[in-house]
Amino acid sequence: MSDLILFWHRRDLRISDNIGLAAARQQSSKIAGVFCLDPNILQRDDVAPARVKYMIGCLQELQQRYAAAGSQLFILQDDPKQAIPRLAAALNAKAVFWNLDVEPYAKDRDRIITDALKEKGIAVQNFWDQLLHSPAEIRTGSKQSYTVYSPFWKNWIGKPKATPVEIFQNGISLTEIEKEAARQAGAKELPSAKALGFIWDKELVLATGETAAKARLEEFGKSAIFEYKERRNFPSVDGTSRLSAALKFGAIGIRTVWAATLAAIAQTPREEAQASIQTWQQELAWREFYQHAMYWFPDLAEGAFREVFKDFPYDNNPEHFQAWCEGKTGYPIVDAAMRQMNEIGWMHNRCRMIVANFLTKDLLIDFRNGEKYFMQKLYDWDLSANNGGWQWSASSGMDPKPVRIFNPASQTEKFDPKAEYIRQWIPELRLVDTQSLVTGKIPPLEREALGYPQPIVDHSKRQREFKQRYSQQKAG
Ligand SMILES: Cc1cc2nc3c(=O)[nH]c(=O)nc-3n(C[C@H](O)[C@H](O)[C@H](O)COP(=O)(O)OP(=O)(O)OC[C@H]3O[C@@H](n4cnc5c(N)ncnc54)[C@H](O)[C@@H]3O)c2cc1C
Repeated sequence: MSDLILFWHRRDLRISDNIGLAAARQQSSKIAGVFCLDPNILQRDDVAPARVKYMIGCLQELQQRYAAAGSQLFILQDDPKQAIPRLAAALNAKAVFWNLDVEPYAKDRDRIITDALKEKGIAVQNFWDQLLHSPAEIRTGSKQSYTVYSPFWKNWIGKPKATPVEIFQNGISLTEIEKEAARQAGAKELPSAKALGFIWDKELVLATGETAAKARLEEFGKSAIFEYKERRNFPSVDGTSRLSAALKFGAIGIRTVWAATLAAIAQTPREEAQASIQTWQQELAWREFYQHAMYWFPDLAEGAFREVFKDFPYDNNPEHFQAWCEGKTGYPIVDAAMRQMNEIGWMHNRCRMIVANFLTKDLLIDFRNGEKYFMQKLYDWDLSANNGGWQWSASSGMDPKPVRIFNPASQTEKFDPKAEYIRQWIPELRLVDTQSLVTGKIPPLEREALGYPQPIVDHSKRQREFKQRYSQQKAG
């Protein structure tokens, strides 16, 4: 057995601030990396082309970084359950290291691969990397997992946080014989997203890779973070970090992100600025809350957490669903948001809540339909955050407030009062007066003339309907 450690990248497409990779480097001066393009994932019908484009771009930079360090990132395109043990054996690796994940599919896959490697006499070491605190670290006094965010946050923020780990630097290069053995075991060139069948010709919201993610964090940490609290809710304003895809694919390390918040706090004595930074830290904690929830309650991925929503009498009208997907419900704020996602693969958080609420409470459609549509479109899609956001909006999740209904008009009045966002994403409404856009009260004839749909449902009637069905369901 050689001294080589194979490091398997999954949601950590970076070299710096990578706990598992740094640990591998500490234990051996000979490291090779691997990433597996898993057909079990890529052949599903919910993969967004923009997401694959982002991932492949991150892998390109990662490959360059490995090469610059005198090493190699191998690419496999096969079921990892066979492909990873095969490559590890071909390289005669003494161990395979990887960072852990919370998702049910990943947990099952990893168990099988661990067994297969051990059977071959290859050691396995795992690490928590993508979270500031692992699921086991944040537990209630009675050692239970949290199901409510506020006490989770109190516990989470009170715990000391790790600082970024050292940048990985390679020592000994791979031999030609080893590289050939890897090719024999299935290692191949990194394909383009297009070659994999995913076409996305538009620019991504965040450029791919570690360098771009760091640059974005730096820029955000110098300016927008100080005003995040006031600006984050306005979809026409560029007030959020737009780091979601980088965090999902691990193009940036979470400890590096945390360090940026501390550096920002140290820079300002202003109370409002400090509160803004803390609001952003709370969003990072929401991310961890939902990942912990997925880890402890994997059934969340299947459907409603709360009993009352398990067999809820939804309408699930396919025409309404289609109109929602296309941004043609006749509700300007909802349609603007859906068109933003269809167009750029990203949607502002405030609007994710508005459209999710509208789908479940106004159209009375099961949240799982919307959850899947988001998967098909979002370049930052993440199982835990998406499921958490959908269950929160559908009132089917862990949130203690049972029925939260958003009124599209009052949401617009508060968060897009000049209808700038609406005009940006619905060009046919550009010349309509602001008041009509905000209230949604565009006269039927004007809608017709502009080619903009009539409202497909009446919000007040539907909210009454939803509440009635909810009460009946609760009464059993
Ligand atoms: C219905 C619905 C679906 C969602 N689907 C996803 C998804 O698939 N992937 C995803 O990353 N986020 C999802 N979110 C959460 C949130 O909308 C996005 O994280 C955010 O809009 C990304 O923009 P940003 O990076 O500028 O966020 P910022 O406001 O700058 O926040 C910083 C980071 O914190 C995390 N974060 C922020 N808000 C949340 C939240 N509510 N829940 C969990 N993490 C959060 C993200 O990693 C984000 O990048 C969803 C929210 C809802 C309501």
